[in-house]
Amino acid sequence: MLPAFSPLGEEEVQLTHSLGRYLSQDIAAALDSPPFDNSAMDGYAVRAGDVGTAERGSPVHLAVRGESRAGGPLPEALEPGAACRIFTGAPMPAGADAVVIQEDTERSGDEVAILEASRVGKHVRARGSDVCAGAALLRAGHRIWHGELGLLASQNISHVSVVQRPRVALLSTGDELRELGATLAAGTIVNSNVYVLTEMLRELGVVPVPLPAAPDRLPEIETALRKALEADVVITMGGVSVGEYDFVHEAFAKVGIEPKFWKVRIKPGKPLAFAQYEGKPVIGLPGNPISAMVTFEVLVAPCLRKMLGDPQPHPEPVSVRLKHGYRRRPGRVEIARALATREGDELVVTLTSQQGSGSLPSFVGVNALVVLPADKAELRPGERVEAILWGPGLRRAGSFFDTLG
Ligand code: AMP
Ligand code: MG
Repeated sequence: MLPAFSPLGEEEVQLTHSLGRYLSQDIAAALDSPPFDNSAMDGYAVRAGDVGTAERGSPVHLAVRGESRAGGPLPEALEPGAACRIFTGAPMPAGADAVVIQEDTERSGDEVAILEASRVGKHVRARGSDVCAGAALLRAGHRIWHGELGLLASQNISHVSVVQRPRVALLSTGDELRELGATLAAGTIVNSNVYVLTEMLRELGVVPVPLPAAPDRLPEIETALRKALEADVVITMGGVSVGEYDFVHEAFAKVGIEPKFWKVRIKPGKPLAFAQYEGKPVIGLPGNPISAMVTFEVLVAPCLRKMLGDPQPHPEPVSVRLKHGYRRRPGRVEIARALATREGDELVVTLTSQQGSGSLPSFVGVNALVVLPADKAELRPGERVEAILWGPGLRRAGSFFDTLG
């Protein structure tokens, strides 16, 4: 699927709206950082040469001339034999080359006794010592997160060029599906997938376009698919299996969506289909809520990350130990829902009790998707497997997890 997904164009956005976006261009530093020599501490700016011999037993006395505070008037140049009262973040006076911290001084009137020797540059944040104007700051493909946002703001960079966010249509199919909050007549269920997938898409950084669910009738699915194809990517849910009312493949054919493959050797999620319409990716996810979530996370999310401009769109699995043994029918790679906790230096996973593909309670609290190899029928307690950390991240084991499975 991955080759079918490429980044769209780029756009310029305000920095304040850029969290989670991927840069489409390298960014060079606009300013020296820090922008001026300033003090890292509260104390006295001095000429290091004046206080080279200072110690508690024989302090050096300097005349206090002026003050420099963050945001205050710029201090005058410092004459030899003098000190300037200075505070954290305040500009260094010309001529001063070190700061003696307040704790190493004794003030009396217009004089200060320096109790410790200093050296050039001590407690001074030199202009450009973090970044020099013009130097590479961030590379294209980098995702803006909190640190990057702070860095760019400190550089007074108010707009950034980022990869456009693809619009991803979500089309659920099924006569039984109703909207959240609807009165549920016998035989109907809430279209829970569309709410979950909408948020999974939003969290990735794409624009979700949830469409009204289509009934299990060919003409309606066709019409809905044509509408869905206005988006950059189409994800259908349900109706992609082998039942009499699974019309999605037929509807793809009617609309001219070309099938690429159908069925994957993973569990849950076997009936997944992939197709393209004039190059545009169309993914048929199984309707089963667990299958839909797992296949989205494992197979679709990396494709969308690539489309968002992420040069490394695949998750990095971590090595974990199984808390308990597990028996299974071999044949397909199994992606099991699990709770991961730290035990000493290791991550230990407990599979949630229900691994059936319809059981939504089995997803509560899940923070790891454990990858069980296709050929293994029996996994022993303590055995090492790989897992993809997911969702809420690691938490301390405690009463919350203890209440689960
Ligand atoms: P299907 O893939 O259409 O055969 O559906 C498989 C199972 O998932 C059936 O029990 C459906 O009722 C259920 N299902 C299908 N679509 C959804 C959905 N959007 N939200 C919740 N459950 C669904
Ligand atoms: Mg169905």
